[in-house]
Amino acid sequence: FTCLISTIKINLCFSNTLPLLLHNHNNHDHDHLKTLEFDGHLSFDDVDHASKDFGNRFQYLPSAVLYPKSVSDIATLVKHVWEMGMTTELSVAARGHGHSLQGQSQAHKGVVINMESLSENKNSVMYIHSDGEFSYVDVYGGELWINILHETLKFGLTPKSWTDYLHLTVGGTLSNAGISGQAFRHGPQISNVLQLQVITGKGEVVNCSKEENSDLFHSVLGGLGQFGIITRARISLEPAPSMVKWIRVLYSDFETFTREQESLITQDQNNSFDYIEGFVIINRTGLLNNWRSSFNPHDPSQASQFNSDGKTLFCLELVKYFNKDNIDMVNQEVEKMLSKLKYIKSTLFISDVSYVDFLDRVHVSEVKLRSKGLWEVPHPWLNLLIPKTKIQTFAHQVFGNILTHTSNGPVLIYPVNKSKWDNRTSVVIPEEEEEEEIFYLVAFLSSAVPSSRGRDGLEHILKQNKRILEFCEKSNLGVKQYLPHYTTQQQWRAHFGPQKWHKFTQRKSTYDPLAIFAPGQRIFQKGK
Ligand code: FAD
Repeated sequence: FTCLISTIKINLCFSNTLPLLLHNHNNHDHDHLKTLEFDGHLSFDDVDHASKDFGNRFQYLPSAVLYPKSVSDIATLVKHVWEMGMTTELSVAARGHGHSLQGQSQAHKGVVINMESLSENKNSVMYIHSDGEFSYVDVYGGELWINILHETLKFGLTPKSWTDYLHLTVGGTLSNAGISGQAFRHGPQISNVLQLQVITGKGEVVNCSKEENSDLFHSVLGGLGQFGIITRARISLEPAPSMVKWIRVLYSDFETFTREQESLITQDQNNSFDYIEGFVIINRTGLLNNWRSSFNPHDPSQASQFNSDGKTLFCLELVKYFNKDNIDMVNQEVEKMLSKLKYIKSTLFISDVSYVDFLDRVHVSEVKLRSKGLWEVPHPWLNLLIPKTKIQTFAHQVFGNILTHTSNGPVLIYPVNKSKWDNRTSVVIPEEEEEEEIFYLVAFLSSAVPSSRGRDGLEHILKQNKRILEFCEKSNLGVKQYLPHYTTQQQWRAHFGPQKWHKFTQRKSTYDPLAIFAPGQRIFQKGK
């Protein structure tokens, strides 16, 4: 709340000290914007929702929101702002589903583009291609992944790489990376895109892929919305399973847990699982009781005797895809793979669920939390990418000393294969020795319940995040933030490192020279 209040104060402060100048600018901007013609519409009133996001901590009111009905609506707006040059302060932010954490899809006094309007009243899938071997789907940038899943399943197909939660847009996740338990095999979502249509900072509509305008293509992927607006994307598909075997087992020893995770992600496809994640169970969080709800114990009597003795535990989460006609074979394969693992034997829990129910699992929690008023609370999340060689040091300090009593939400931890990430894209991952093939995602997905103080309060969680970051910095762990948030350009420079920063700024001056796009990321400021 303190942060929210201080943000509001900043906004008030702005409008108190610079009223004349900005009002003149605003009137001038509004008059010009009103002359533009759109298939959709531009609203100067219906703008409040565009100043909010999932993080629920930062609020910047835009001047207007564009509800586009065509790609050319977006091009018209951007071209206009480009042609106005430095005579206007207007910036432009694409807003996907607004599930950013620190105002990244907001534009203070700028224009927010409500990307979901682009596909409203249209099919979520524009085109689907399948020739038995090679399949893809063309979708709008503002499309939700959950809709793409439902549409592609009608053809027995599915995207390969996901996020844990599917009520996010294609443009929003491709601007970051899109990571989940399939990333070890297929890479993040940005590794599964074949082509994009992008509107650059000059209002040009450009098609790009690895072969055509490849620099723009790679810039935009993981580009934090800095280089263009993704209006269309071609996503690679594979045959969809109908069911999954969803497995959870516990470890008390972190080293064994990570060694087995690492071994599992390097097996070939026939000898491994299709999804591999993990999470930390810090005692007294209630998670110890929840981690197995809706799962069946493999051996109920053994399971009932399991006692954690108050220890921090590590849950390995695995999934094997299957269709009903090959269930016997899959049961055997799973049994064989599990027999090689050294988890605590009484803690094997398995559940067979449909592919859709598995992928859309977080939505079930969303519905529950919404009904209790606990979804729209501040979310001070911290996501880190950690080199494999530093994960033990990290865990020792963070799970052993910093987060000993409680966590305010899930703490995910799982490794991915670096070779599945394309270093031509803009995304930043840990830099390590060439031979180092693996890094970890560790995600502290905290919720701050407004009435709480002490350990559940926002301030406490922010302090804890700060301690974790300070420890990483001090110990030189080479950690990179995922869904990064910084407030100064110096911090951004350090995040990218000298080479990547040089490339990032070069790309910015090529594709968005006036720094019109995504001001909420606070990397560049218009005109500076
Ligand atoms: P927004 O918040 O609307 O936008 C994010 C950024 O992208 C902004 O800078 C915006 O300007 C820009 N942008 C949006 N659309 C476009 C476009 N079409 N073209 C160019 N730029 C655009 N991430 C993971 O990788 N893995 C997970 O498992 C995962 N789980 C999540 C679970 C929940 C409950 C939530 C809230 C988030 C999760 N995320 C996860 C993070 C998520 O991927 C990002 O927050 C993502 O940005 C949200 O997508 P959005 O559509 O809401 O984007």
